[in-house]
Amino acid sequence: MTILYEFEGGLYVNLTNACTCACVFCIRGGHDGVGDADSLWLERDPTEDEVLDAFRQHDLSAYREVVFCGFGEPTERLDVLLAACRYIRSVSDIPIRLNTNGLAELSLGKSVAPLFEGLIDTVSISMNAPTAAEYVQVTQPSFGEKAFDAMLQFVRDCKRYVPHVMVTAVDVITPEQAERCRKLAESLGVPFRLRNFT
Ligand code: SF4
Repeated sequence: MTILYEFEGGLYVNLTNACTCACVFCIRGGHDGVGDADSLWLERDPTEDEVLDAFRQHDLSAYREVVFCGFGEPTERLDVLLAACRYIRSVSDIPIRLNTNGLAELSLGKSVAPLFEGLIDTVSISMNAPTAAEYVQVTQPSFGEKAFDAMLQFVRDCKRYVPHVMVTAVDVITPEQAERCRKLAESLGVPFRLRNFT
């Protein structure tokens, strides 16, 4: 079971395969692994102890950042995610980034962004489309169109508690859609990055 893996100088964390989206570009559709991990499919979600043990076996000074990403949505394991961040913060000042679909507050039915304060340095949220209708086409969230507004609200919420917040889209959308995403990000006061579909 791969919990931690290395990718482009970062130490990546694979907490779950669960996700409330089914993005048309999701890497899980065509690959089993990323970086030095042959497979990121989990036979079960790792326990908090297993995740912390995995961290204890790594020298964090060897990496430029820790990234919660993996083959699923990290906030679906919110308690373990926060416990791991607290452990990291107790032993290192390495930057911590969360890559997320931004639907934690909708999925868990509670306020999540304040829990990141003092733990997470960067939250990268998948915007993926400039309107609710287009968002549903690209990400196929289990919540339907209301997921789009929830994602935008999560961007605003994270800005209050996290030093760096950014939004992304994958270039499976048209350049015109990407431009509208860029403008939407601008209106939210966060940077936008268009990622390559690989
Ligand atoms: S949010 Fe991430 S893990 Fe979930 S389907 Fe989309 S790309 Fe895949």
